[in-house]
Amino acid sequence: MRKKIIAGNWKMNKTAPEASELTEEIKQKMDTSTEVDVVLCPPFTDLAAVYRIIHDSYIDLGGQNLHWEEKGAFTGEISADMLKSVGCHYVIIGHSERRQYFEETDETVNKKIKSALHEGLIPIVCVGELLEEREADKTQSVIETQVKAAFEDIDKIQAQKMVLAYEPVWAIGTGKVATPEQAQEVHEFIRKLLTDIFDEETASTIRIQYGGSMKPDNAAELLSQPDVDGGLIGGASLDAGSFIAIINHAKSNME
Ligand code: PEP
Repeated sequence: MRKKIIAGNWKMNKTAPEASELTEEIKQKMDTSTEVDVVLCPPFTDLAAVYRIIHDSYIDLGGQNLHWEEKGAFTGEISADMLKSVGCHYVIIGHSERRQYFEETDETVNKKIKSALHEGLIPIVCVGELLEEREADKTQSVIETQVKAAFEDIDKIQAQKMVLAYEPVWAIGTGKVATPEQAQEVHEFIRKLLTDIFDEETASTIRIQYGGSMKPDNAAELLSQPDVDGGLIGGASLDAGSFIAIINHAKSNME
């Protein structure tokens, strides 16, 4: 059985003192069992402060982006090595907001994945279709292109360490959540793609999170789908109570 993974994407929210306060609250309210992987992905400027609080807990830290180069004249960018040096184990790559507003492409996503894996970071790679693509019945072809490009020149040993996040763009931050059936259909499709790219064993190892307006009141049903292995949570991860409620739904699904 794949271990569920719940990650909070705080996006561009929380100053360092606010991030410390939220992290303390999450840490205090969470029990100490380890049936579910929990990851916090605050802004870069909060990473050190959050790590100071969680380093002795089972909560992991993740970045929200990285640059594929190791170092150099890339003003404003952060490397995989830098993320590792402040305690990150994970990094979100290819979030739809980066694809939409910061010219992230399938090619840069692949470069970033390779750089993260090279440094021993676990990439959380986001894929998802726009509303017009779903309406034009192009969901599967869009997802296929994104997934194939993400795994280009990545071997199955490396691939097995990765996490994918299916995030229909029309459901992110909109309150419009995919139905559990819609989510399962795409997750199953991704799992089949992974079988075609690698093999069944690899496909059954890679965890696929759902992301897009996941909240305490819809999480249980989404997380009970056979190919939904966790959640990438935006808005609801900024509230300790909601985030923990989602983690608890994931735990009950592991029992
Ligand atoms: C996200 O940003 O990855 C996300 C899923 O956001 P929200 O939960 O707010 O839709």
